[in-house]
Amino acid sequence: MTDWSSKTFRAPWPGSVSRPVVNPLQPSVVYASRDPDSLDAQYEGGDKGYTYSREGHPNAEVLAGMIDRMEGASGGVIAGSGMAAVTLALVSCAKSGDHVLGADQLYGRSLRLMTEVLPGLGIATSLADPTDAKAFAAAIRPETTLILIEMVSNPTLRVADIDGILTIAKSRGIRVAVDNTFPTPRGFAPLARGADIVIHSVTKLLSGHSDAMLGYVAAKDAELTERLSVMAMTMGFAPSPFDCWLAERGLYSFDLRYERCTATAARLGDALAGMPGVKRVLYPTRRDHPDHNRSASVLGGEGGHMVSFEIDGGRAAANAFVRAAEGLNFAPTLGDIATTISHPATSSHRSLTPGGRAALGISEGFFRISVGCEAPDGLVAAFESALGAALQS
Ligand code: PLP
Repeated sequence: MTDWSSKTFRAPWPGSVSRPVVNPLQPSVVYASRDPDSLDAQYEGGDKGYTYSREGHPNAEVLAGMIDRMEGASGGVIAGSGMAAVTLALVSCAKSGDHVLGADQLYGRSLRLMTEVLPGLGIATSLADPTDAKAFAAAIRPETTLILIEMVSNPTLRVADIDGILTIAKSRGIRVAVDNTFPTPRGFAPLARGADIVIHSVTKLLSGHSDAMLGYVAAKDAELTERLSVMAMTMGFAPSPFDCWLAERGLYSFDLRYERCTATAARLGDALAGMPGVKRVLYPTRRDHPDHNRSASVLGGEGGHMVSFEIDGGRAAANAFVRAAEGLNFAPTLGDIATTISHPATSSHRSLTPGGRAALGISEGFFRISVGCEAPDGLVAAFESALGAALQS
């Protein structure tokens, strides 16, 4: 006879006197409480417990705690993507009638959020050069409530004048949100410097393996921390437990990966500068970088894992280089364990006019490299050989 009870009730979890060394993945969407009193106590904060995973789950809590410690934050929120984290920061700090001032060198989707989405919600926006604090001061309006910048810009790796911007913002009572994705918490600490909000695309170097899509946002003050959390629950920015679990695993090796790829990036930048056909290299700690001095004072002299460079020969040379770059993924992302090459003119900055790209210094021969953890000698040799092949084509 069929035992229906085994089909209708959840199977019990096996007991064990030992415990796993790896934190479990908990995919449950919903949590069963003991009784209404207990559920009531959970909602009121008297008892610790989960109810529904859009409102929080253990894998997100573990991950948030780890990134909180890295950023010197508390109560950070994990969101379903870096863009969800950027959106959460914006809609938590600005309402209809307010004005948000952004850097003109934001990640493409953040730019679209500023220029196409927020105005539709009644939030005015404008953009200014983040390396020029005076330009930022001039763009502030009486109704400005938030400034959004990226500490190191994509793809020209310009370093924001964070101290200048913070001074102006503080004197006007405006919050400053810093997208810290490129420097990572090892390269820069926004909250300790005086920013109000820190944002990450956890998808990138923090998780580090191109297999988890997540974001993180944390605020300095308790009221905004609570607002971020409530907005995330209400607007449905919840992260997947599996992605949080993968990112937790990735974070355990973050320091090692950061050190390896940052050291290799500095070396590759110098090597590229000496290779035939290379017009210029952009790396924040190189003496020829426009923000070289600021990178020493703000980024602690660390250039990070991203290097950009430009080659002669336009699109034809760009195609030849990528085709010859065997073993290196040509992919519009960053922070992966393996090196990736991206071509901003056909990816992140394709929506700009050629003139707009030229103003940012992005030509058809411009590439951005996210340096991975490969053996440095082999990586430098791979670039040398691909550039050599491109020159001969
Ligand atoms: N911020 C920066 C600086 C980025 O480079 C990206 C993505 O590349 C994002 C935010 C968005 O992150 P996600 O792709 O996780 O939504």
